[in-house]
Amino acid sequence: MEDMALSPAWAGAYPAGVSTRLEVAAPSLVAAWKDRVRTNPGGTAVAYFDGRISAAELDGLSDAFAAALENRGIGHGDRIGIQLQNIPQYVIAFLALWKLGAIAVLMNPMYKERELRHLIEDSGARGILADDTLYQATAAAAAGTSVEWILTTSGLEYQSRCDPRIFGPAEPVPPSPDGDMAALIAEFTGRAPAPLTITQDDVALLAYTSGTTGAPKGAMNTHGNILNVAATCSAWMGLAPGDTVLAVAPLFHITGAVIDAAAPLLTDTTLVMVNRTDPAVAVDAFAEHRVTCTTGSITVFNAIYQLPDAGAEHFASAKTLYSGGAPIPPSTVESFQQRFGAYIHNIFGMTETTSAVIGVPPGVQAPVDPASGSLSIGLPLPNVTARIIDAAGNPLPAGEQGELELAGPQIVPGYWNNPEATARTMPAGRLRTGDVATMDESGWVYIVDRMKDQINVSGYKVWPREVEDVLYEHPAVYEAAVVGMPDAYRGETVVAYVSLKSGQAATEEELIAFTRERLAAYKYPRSVHVIDDLPKTQTGKIRRRELRETPKEG
Ligand code: AMP
Repeated sequence: MEDMALSPAWAGAYPAGVSTRLEVAAPSLVAAWKDRVRTNPGGTAVAYFDGRISAAELDGLSDAFAAALENRGIGHGDRIGIQLQNIPQYVIAFLALWKLGAIAVLMNPMYKERELRHLIEDSGARGILADDTLYQATAAAAAGTSVEWILTTSGLEYQSRCDPRIFGPAEPVPPSPDGDMAALIAEFTGRAPAPLTITQDDVALLAYTSGTTGAPKGAMNTHGNILNVAATCSAWMGLAPGDTVLAVAPLFHITGAVIDAAAPLLTDTTLVMVNRTDPAVAVDAFAEHRVTCTTGSITVFNAIYQLPDAGAEHFASAKTLYSGGAPIPPSTVESFQQRFGAYIHNIFGMTETTSAVIGVPPGVQAPVDPASGSLSIGLPLPNVTARIIDAAGNPLPAGEQGELELAGPQIVPGYWNNPEATARTMPAGRLRTGDVATMDESGWVYIVDRMKDQINVSGYKVWPREVEDVLYEHPAVYEAAVVGMPDAYRGETVVAYVSLKSGQAATEEELIAFTRERLAAYKYPRSVHVIDDLPKTQTGKIRRRELRETPKEG
């Protein structure tokens, strides 16, 4: 943090009233939450379809659930998995675990047995709170592990509308034999766990990395990390009491957990949840709740763009839309703005940075790097130090390409039970992101691409993102992914996979010709495969690696 004493390059481009340093006074997430409850106990904290939960009610529900878990012997430092979609019980569980000084392990409800088992074994979770429809599969994954019980809950609770687009004709599922969350809350209503001193250094979440290199690692997001991101993002985005935030990012990913959930919970705003993200349900929720802010992945905004009935009226209340987690093609931002009148601001974050640490100021259109065509991810947020370094770790001058390195109180202290990976990825507390980037004189950062996704064509370096951006300019292209494939002659050759917008057509030859007109000869893809759907993570990142390892037929 020593370099923060000097005024950083990006200070000049900061939004009015936001300083590059921001003190976070609250000792813990629980203390910050209690402040909010005291300030406005009757304010709506959570809206779920037609259901509403006030701040005071949410406090009472989480007290009761915490007391129930305490009764089962759960306390400081214990790990408990949460395997739910975006439903109110997620934040009840967060608050309950934090009140106990326990750690919430984010578990993707889509995970299959092998993936879930890795998270259980690595974290040593003592219990899991799962969606009732997942009970059988979760119990199979947890058999013979540290898991002592699985509690279940249902997405049908806390609302009565039962939107068929989300719930379908679902039959009620019996609760887990180990316990039902609603029944436990009813039994412990009016009780609260024993008071406990929790500090900023206590771990609040274990969020697992997507595991693009080796097995997923658990990033230890502390109370201090989350308080910092919540405070800096709220200041940056202008999140204020009275705002309404739609959680379009899944809470089992760091962006959803921290920017779409923790930040609004601590800021006297209403958090709108719609279970799993269905684009049509999300735009309806936007209009119904007069949503002012959201942060999602570009995949969600792309899917919304495809909805024939969505219009500017759905986004009339929007103050700030942010997209993070994956590169955004400039052409997507442009067409979204033309059609809906709302500009998608870029924001950058990682599991290890507790989500957003670099972002575009609200109301500002991000510059595009003329050299790489990359849309800027923005300026380092308060308390963040960003540098571009060479292979030896030395800082590079403005405009030069190198690895993005980050420091600041948003960076996790390390990976759970993995000091080797911690030492490798964050030597001396400075995080090596693995992203190739440039920073201009004013502090705007441009991501060139993931370091390991670079394609080497006869010694010429090709960044897949640049080729993808060009494919996105084609009016028929819905999504695009570019990978390097082994080639006997060139070493590697550029191969593209695309899916098309509904009702649109484009041949592979036409798409190759389109890129050939716009890119240097070594960059344009030698083959383009049109497929129905690109493989993606649950958080909307296109899985280039999967395409490289198991090529899909066109
Ligand atoms: P994860 O830890 O799964 O959230 O992945 C973090 C990685 O996502 C980063 O290292 C980047 O490669 C990528 N990423 C996140 N935000 C952006 C963004 N706004 N633009 C481009 N890439 C991004």
